Amino acid sequence: MDEAPAPSGGAEPSAESDVAAATDERGAGDEDEDEKEKKEAEPVDPLVALRDATPRCDPAAKHCFGLFVHVVVDDEGAPVQSLEWVTAQIAGAQDRFAEAADASFEVVEVEPLAAAHRDIVSRLDRDKLGRPHFSRGVVHVFVVGSLADVDGPGEIRGVHWRDRANTARRWVILSSIAGSLTLTHELGHFFSLPHSRYAGSLMNKQPGGPPFAERRFHAKEAAKMRRAKAAMIGDGTLVPRAAAKPAEPGPAAEP
Ligand SMILES: [Zn+2]
Repeated sequence: MDEAPAPSGGAEPSAESDVAAATDERGAGDEDEDEKEKKEAEPVDPLVALRDATPRCDPAAKHCFGLFVHVVVDDEGAPVQSLEWVTAQIAGAQDRFAEAADASFEVVEVEPLAAAHRDIVSRLDRDKLGRPHFSRGVVHVFVVGSLADVDGPGEIRGVHWRDRANTARRWVILSSIAGSLTLTHELGHFFSLPHSRYAGSLMNKQPGGPPFAERRFHAKEAAKMRRAKAAMIGDGTLVPRAAAKPAEPGPAAEP
């Protein structure tokens, strides 16, 4: 149900190569080592950074919605994915939703999840992951280490999941192997979209077509998402946040 697309097709090797790619990105660049050591000298709680250093809502969008991010951490408290990765997920959603749904997103809360939730294997795991944390008004996003395909072998990148005990309770689960538009795709489901066959759509899981990074929502999908947005605001599924203030101009000190 509502699984994220695996654009390269085959279930087996693509998951492997995504893992490798994600690892490469995280470990990239010997030159960054000095920089990293400097940062470690004054430690910033990585979970606080996920809330405070990720992009704020696009002020041009009419509605700003909160994302409540739950991220699996290891025994030392390190999250399964980086600030850069979370930032890319949010930036992708902001870009596509501003145009399609006149909506934007920002992280409002971040909470750690115990390492026991690292690997989400079964449908029951997906239910139990979100059930204790669910609330209305925001989108709950769970970032885990791995997410198994419950319909076959292999791993998937993300899913929009409805609690089987109460399908009004729903949330997004992202695997650490997710590409930067996986959150956007899953939010498309949250905003009522099924998979589609529109060329170039983020919701099209058919093989072929343009690279995923270039995809957007189709105009008909955009119209459907705007209707869903109004319905979700109407019934309290989502509560728009106060409009973001425009960025403060820099110090007015002219020489
Ligand atoms: Zn999907």
